[in-house]
This record gives sequence, C-alpha cells and structure tokens, in this order.
Amino acid sequence: MELSAAKKRVIWLIWLVTIPVGFVVTFQWMPPSGSFVDWLPYLFMMCIIAFFPIVVNGTTIFFIQLISLPTLLVHGLFVEMLLVQLATILLMFRLRIRPEELYRLPLNSAMFFSISLLSAVVYISLGGQVGTEERLTTLTYILLLVYMFIYAITNQVLLNIVVRWMHGVKRPFVGKDFVWEMVSTLLVYPLGLVVYFLLSEVGPWSIFLIGVPFICVALLLKMYNNTENINDYLQNAAEFGHELAQSLKVTEVLDVFMQKISTLLPIDFAYLLDVNDRELTVSRVLEEGDISSKDLQRLQRHEGISGMVWATGKSVIYGTKVEWEGVVKGYMPAGAESVLSVPILRSGEVKGVLFLASRKKRLFHKYQVMVVDILCSYLSVALENARHYEKTKNESERCALTKLYNYRYFERYLTDEFQKLDEGERKQLSLILLDIDYFKSINDTYGHQSGNEVLIELAERLRRMVGSRGTVARYGGEEFIVLLPDIGKEQAHEMAERIRQFVSARPFYIRQSMNESGKIVKVSITVSIGVSCTTDGVDDSLSLIRYADYAMYMGAKQKGRNRVADYQAIL
Ligand code: GH3
Ligand code: MG
Ligand code: MG
Repeated sequence: MELSAAKKRVIWLIWLVTIPVGFVVTFQWMPPSGSFVDWLPYLFMMCIIAFFPIVVNGTTIFFIQLISLPTLLVHGLFVEMLLVQLATILLMFRLRIRPEELYRLPLNSAMFFSISLLSAVVYISLGGQVGTEERLTTLTYILLLVYMFIYAITNQVLLNIVVRWMHGVKRPFVGKDFVWEMVSTLLVYPLGLVVYFLLSEVGPWSIFLIGVPFICVALLLKMYNNTENINDYLQNAAEFGHELAQSLKVTEVLDVFMQKISTLLPIDFAYLLDVNDRELTVSRVLEEGDISSKDLQRLQRHEGISGMVWATGKSVIYGTKVEWEGVVKGYMPAGAESVLSVPILRSGEVKGVLFLASRKKRLFHKYQVMVVDILCSYLSVALENARHYEKTKNESERCALTKLYNYRYFERYLTDEFQKLDEGERKQLSLILLDIDYFKSINDTYGHQSGNEVLIELAERLRRMVGSRGTVARYGGEEFIVLLPDIGKEQAHEMAERIRQFVSARPFYIRQSMNESGKIVKVSITVSIGVSCTTDGVDDSLSLIRYADYAMYMGAKQKGRNRVADYQAIL
C-alpha cells in the first residue's frame, strides 16, 4: 500500500521537529556518563544487532532491548537514544528500503525515540538506577522488568496507532504480534542483564562473547528460514501446476500463469517471450498488476538478457541495474533493479523465456530459480496440452477445406440456440441455406481441385459478409448454411439477396487443374438460396433446416436457379 505524499510530509515534519528538540532536552535533563570511547562497545553491539536482524516466520525481530537495557543502566538515556537511533538507520539501510519508502526512516526513528523516552521516564521516576556503576538493587531488577515491558507495550501501541493512521487498518491490540512481543521480552530481559554484567565485568572483549553467538543464531535462523521458504514455494508450485493443468485454452493458461507468478514472487514486472522462427516475441506482459499483450521490441538469439537465456538455455539472476546495464538490449521497465530470466524448455529445446523484474535490489535468490524453473516446466506442459486440445477441438468442429464450422458443430450450435429461444433469451432465429448452381460442371470443366478453390473462396466471401451477425457452416458438398440469431425474416432475406448478388456479380479466379497448364481462369457462378425463420411456425431445429431446404429447391432451383426464396412466400 503506497502512502500518500501528504502523510509522508507529516512524518518528516514530526521527525524534524521532535528529534532534535528531544535530544537537546534529554541531554540537559540527564547528561551522559562516560566518554565516546566508553560508549563504543555498546555501539558495536548495536551495529551487530542491526546488521543481523533475526527473521522468524517472515517477521523481522529487532533485539534492540538487549543493548538498550545495559546502555541505559551504564550511560543513561541520552546514549541509549543515540544508539537506538543509529541502529534504526542501520536497520533501514540493511532492509534495503526503496527511495519511495524513505519515510520509513523518520517514522521508525520517531517511534523508537518515543519508546526510549517513555519507558525510561517511567523507569527513572519510579526510582530505577541510571548511569551508575553501583550494584543493582532488587528494586532496580524489578523496575528493569517493568521498563522492558513498557518498552514492548509502547512499541505495540504506537504500531497500532501508526498503521491505523497510515493505512486505515485496525490491528487487534492483543494479537499474535503482541503475545510474541511479550514472550520475547521475557527472553530478552535476562539476556540484557547478561550483556550488562559481561560488559561491566569483562569489558569490550564481551563484544565477541555476545556478538559471535548472536550472529551464529541469526545466520542459523536465516538458513532455517530459507529452507522453510523453499518448502512453502514448492508447495505453492505444486498447487500452481494443478491449476494450470485445468486450463484447456492457451490464452487462459498464459493468463493464469502470469497472474499466479505475480502472487508467488514479489515481482513488479513479468514478461513471457516466445521463440518464433528466429526471434523472441512477447506474448504476455505483467506491469503494475495488469496483464496485457504488448508488442515490444523483438530480440534475436544472444541479444540482450532474454536472447542470451534463449541461446544458452541457462537462467540468469541480476541483483542490481549496474549488473545488467551492459547486457540489456531493447525494452526494460523503468525502475527495474533485480532481474531473473529463465528458459522455458520443451524436449530439451528452448521454446520461450520468462523474464521477471523488481524495483527492489537483490530480490531473487538461487533457490527461487529452482522454483521458477519448475513453474516453467508446468507452463510448458500445460501449454502443450492446451494447444493439443485446441487443435483437436478445432479439427473436430471445422471443415478442413474451407475452415468453416462443420455440420456436426452447427447442429449442436443450432440446438443450443433453440434452447435459448425456448428460454426467451432469443426472440427469433433465421436460417439461410445456399447451394451452388451447376457445380458439377465446374468440376467437370476445370477439375476437382479447381472446384475446391471455388468452395474456399465462397466460404471466405460468406464469412466476410455475415461477420458477427451469424454463424456460417459447411452444410454438405457445395452447400452452406448460416444461422442468424435475433434477425428477422426480412433482414435475413436481404442478406441472402446481397450474398446472391455478391457471388454472381464477381467472378472467381481459380487455377485450372484439368490439364498441366495451371492457368488462372475466371469463373462465374451463381447460387440458389432458401431462407426460413422461426416465425414461420417452426418448433424444432431440424424443421428450420427442412423449411430452408424446401424453399431452396422449390423456390429457387426449380424456378430457374440464381435466386432467393423464402419458405412462407412459396407456400
Ligand atoms: P444444382 O445444385 O444446380 O442442381 O447442380 P449441381 O451440379 O451443383 O448439383 P449436384 O448435387 O448434382 O452436384 C454437386 C456436386 O458438387 C457434385 C460433387 O462432385 C461436387 N462436390 C461436392 N463436394 C465437393 C467438394 O468438396 N469439392 C469439389 N470440388 N466438388 C464437390
Ligand atoms: Mg447440392
Ligand atoms: Mg448444386
């Protein structure tokens, strides 16, 4: 969720006003003890904590209190605040916040400042020891625990307020985060005391005693998290595969793939490229959450990042713009930093390339390449299936010669349309049946192949003339049929008349196939047409065809051909 510019300004303003004043007032109220050199070990420890954030279940835990507690005890509030502020800046830097998220810096800084201040003020006013090298009293031990809890609770309260103000989202006060925060406070309290004792007894060397195990734990947890992430990804990938397999249309497979990949990986841009002849062409684009099919610059083999992936068949990862700047060619989305490009293979051959990018730097990890690789093989299989299905479906529905629908398809379609008529979804249906006159003589004069060419051209003319107003099918040998939903008798008759004229007025150019000459010849043909409509008192689909057939024979063929007849008119 992007924060509005006005709110960002408010954050910066509050920060600019409160932080400097806060520091000056704290300094006056409680001047720090010791010199900068004395603070250094604490500063080091703070840096370690900021640089090795501990991530559990996707939540970053910032064990800042581990150092806050001893710093407050030994050097007082001013130094504690200073170190916490430095740690916040380091953490933000470490989390690689984007330029547009820079407001998170003053936000976190101001939040931690308030937390430091409030919890320390309560602690001190209740009589807790500060900036002292004396033995800790029992009261201090208790108050330190109070201090820790106030620290944690204030953090939660402020978070709730800030999240609500920024995004209008209401978080439950005693939610999972709260419980987790309280438990970690109980854990950090004794550890904070240990750090305090070690620092006061062992001195600066305790940086190693504490820092090394802390870093080890942080790294171990990171490894554990990676394995957990891989497990999650693999599980999602399996579901992804099932979903893709369910789509039987190529376009649907592509859309599902693009949409899923953007939910699985935190990407800003995705491009699916196909290997076509000698070029890579873009078949799907995902930018700013929208899937489209833009025509972007084509790439040759070895050209740019995707061209290279195509040529080598190997995936590539780039962490930043600087890394890919020298390689890229053609289109690149604005602001892209991290890039992951993976080949899409089928039978060991690269058939396409998936190109993913993000505005975040160093986003992609090696294990994600493996996951994306798996997804791409799912895609490849799903596409193959969908293409096969579409081809088979197409072949079973269409006539191989004219590419029009065949009668089997038309019959089903007509039944469906009658169903719609029964349900009131259609007002009427008109039907046109067309037969070429003396077609046999064309075959006899020019050859069967030339007759086929006439059929192909006539099919094309019919398709063009009917357009989206109806559905054209090949009814039989040289007979064609057209269904016009929600078109009345008169309009259907007009259309039939236009078709008749368009056929008789414009000759057909075909190749002579009777002899070897292969000469182009000009042939004129005519058609006889019968028209019927559900308003003729038809109850079922077969009668509608029968009526048109009757009109065609009785009204057109028998009356001399090259004419249009409708059922009612000839009765
Ligand atoms: P009319 O309809 O005017 O009575 O005369 P016709 O000569 O068109 O009628 P007929 O039904 O006798 O002949 C139809 C011819 O169409 C017979 C057949 O050789 C031809 N035919 C049918 N299917 C095809 C085809 O797919 N390709 C070619 N070239 N000819 C076909
Ligand atoms: Mg015929
Ligand atoms: Mg005929």
